[in-house]
Amino acid sequence: MIKTGLSPETFSTTLLHWYKKNYRHLPWRQTKNPYFIWISEIMLQQTTVQAVIPYFENWMKIFPKIASLSQAPLQNVLKAWQGLGYYQRARNLHAASTIILKLHKGKIPKNYDILKNLPGFGPYTTAAVLSLAFDLPYPVIDANVRRVLMRLMGLAKEANARYDTKLQEFLSPLLPEKNMSTFNQAMMELGALTCKPKNPACLLCPFPSDCKAFTQGKQEVIPKPKKKNYKKIEAVVGIIKKENKFLIQKRPPNGLLAGLWEFPGGKINSGETQKQALYREIKEELHSEVQGANFLVTVRHAYTQFQVTLHAFECKLEQNPSLDKTVQHWVTLKDIHHYPLPSGSAKIIRYLEDLKKHKESINYGK
Ligand code: SF4
Repeated sequence: MIKTGLSPETFSTTLLHWYKKNYRHLPWRQTKNPYFIWISEIMLQQTTVQAVIPYFENWMKIFPKIASLSQAPLQNVLKAWQGLGYYQRARNLHAASTIILKLHKGKIPKNYDILKNLPGFGPYTTAAVLSLAFDLPYPVIDANVRRVLMRLMGLAKEANARYDTKLQEFLSPLLPEKNMSTFNQAMMELGALTCKPKNPACLLCPFPSDCKAFTQGKQEVIPKPKKKNYKKIEAVVGIIKKENKFLIQKRPPNGLLAGLWEFPGGKINSGETQKQALYREIKEELHSEVQGANFLVTVRHAYTQFQVTLHAFECKLEQNPSLDKTVQHWVTLKDIHHYPLPSGSAKIIRYLEDLKKHKESINYGK
């Protein structure tokens, strides 16, 4: 086991003292309500605190309790999640809330094994909810804590959950006997505010002399940077208009961006031009030839594991498509905001809105 010069008492007392002076007042920290803590922890995965705050506040207005989340249609839950990405998280929240309501009278269970078996509760979320809400003795290792520990230990590897057992071994003798909730939050806050990924503020940190990375001058290079290996997808979409309405359709219930709404279209196959792909996709999906297509806009969006470039074309069809109303709707630009959309499609819609306003302002000036 790697040792530090700090005893458990000194480590947690020093840490908690630092936390008391430096912590941020965040909406989910005003309470120990386990539902609030659960939702915030799920939202905070892969997303910054600043981005999460408005989503969290809006969520609590729409779904203030586990029962209101469980009883809401999945589509409303996906809508409230729109923009946070990785939509499986929202589906899991909905599914888990239903189980909690049915089997646990609407109360989040305090038992590790029961909680970990609910949809979306991996070891991290389970430990976070149990320690932050109920003060149970589970250490939490999120990306911030992982970085702090790797630097304290001087572990010069990529930040990766596969080293968490090593980090746990290091952390375990430093855990306090009580105040587990504050201890875990303080570790996360130290990573977020001081031991930042770039330019860590070591001179404001309570542990510079016990930190191997700092004492060896390696705080900027530990952890090692991750190699980004995005899968890149090129796709085309048809913007098909009837009077003031646009045609959108729902993605299948499983797989990538499941259950979200988007414009018709799909991936460009190798060797195809953008227009060839568009004509083929529209024929496959709407059973109509495209009469003409004008390029409108290209948008790019990086999702968790891939980056998509969407080329949007204004299309005219040879005949009116006969729609399956369960998954295909004509909607106005105003009403489109009631539908859960992938971020790439939301960017195209923003462009259509800007274009509309621009045209209106030109007409107004005439
Ligand atoms: S001394 Fe610097 S690198 Fe070490 S834990 Fe503190 S902020 Fe991080």
